[in-house]
Amino acid sequence: MTETAATLNAKFKPRVFSGIQPSGGLTLGNYLGALKRFAQKQDEGIETIYCLVDLHAITVWQDPQALRRQTREAAAAFIASGVDPARSILFNQSQVSAHAELAWALNCVARLGWMNRMTQFKDKAGKNAEKVSLGLYAYPALMAADILLYHATMVPVGEDQKQHVELTRDIAAKFNHDFKVDFFPTPEPLIEGTATRVMSLRDGTKKMSKSDPSDASRINLTDDADTIAKKIRKATTDPAELPGEIEGLKDRPEARNLVNIYAALADMTPAQVLGEYGGKGFGTFKPALADLAVEKLSPISTEMARLMADPAEIDQILGQGADKADAIARPILAQTYDIMGMVRSR
Ligand code: ATP
Ligand code: MG
Repeated sequence: MTETAATLNAKFKPRVFSGIQPSGGLTLGNYLGALKRFAQKQDEGIETIYCLVDLHAITVWQDPQALRRQTREAAAAFIASGVDPARSILFNQSQVSAHAELAWALNCVARLGWMNRMTQFKDKAGKNAEKVSLGLYAYPALMAADILLYHATMVPVGEDQKQHVELTRDIAAKFNHDFKVDFFPTPEPLIEGTATRVMSLRDGTKKMSKSDPSDASRINLTDDADTIAKKIRKATTDPAELPGEIEGLKDRPEARNLVNIYAALADMTPAQVLGEYGGKGFGTFKPALADLAVEKLSPISTEMARLMADPAEIDQILGQGADKADAIARPILAQTYDIMGMVRSR
């Protein structure tokens, strides 16, 4: 952080904001890169605001029935992972209309050249960039709005979202500069731990994603013990044994991925994992990893199933969360409009 950004941010109280798209069932990558750390931030006593970003999810077509179920299931995953609605604000984005409103204002601050550098758009649009939605292109400005609407100072995310949080900082700084104010903080991405980029089980060079067409590429939080064990057993690996030292994983992305997953699940460092499994083959390591994954994930899937049996309770939690979020967001949106010169006469 630059000196001026640090001075500016010191004026804001520490506040965490992050979100997950209900664009499918949540994965082990979402758990290790996001959910687990969301609960840790809450437990550190910082004010935490977590959002199911359904407005982001619809940047690619979602079946309406599935979107509703996925939103409730994602809320259940947050709670089952330790996000406590009494201590964190938990809500779905579309229930707080200020997100879409601030996004419009920030669309007018963000520059086309900045958006053109976003790698997520390039990855998701692929060769079909002419056919994807305008929303997919504008996604990062909506994400900036999500964060800045709460004057959040910290954004725990996986590695893949770093560029979007940096864009948020650029948008905040440009707004402050253009209107000669110190209104928005420049939030910090928090990318911590050993599982900031969990890779696909089929391809060690590709990120594990809930929207990957291959179910075998990921572990879903709702997978049962047998499915988890089978997916890990079938995960692509090389034939060599695990090395004794981290350097030995350098050109072995699949092996490195499984070691990192083990480390994150066990709260160990990758070096400690190699201390235990160095010299052993995947015939030993994969079953150990499967046992560990089942041990850590099965309480979460059991709790998710329990919560999903009462969707009305989940909806009530999301509604109450939205009320609390709205109470913070409204005045910040009103001030933004005021700074920009909109007449506010009611
Ligand atoms: P989609 O494929 O629909 O984009 P996704 O799995 O990438 O889904 P997001 O909702 O885009 O999930 O991201 C939610 C959070 O999970 C973000 O903080 C993101 O950085 C994190 N995350 C996503 N995938 C991974 C991964 N493979 N490893 C670590 N963190 C991840
Ligand atoms: Mg994603």
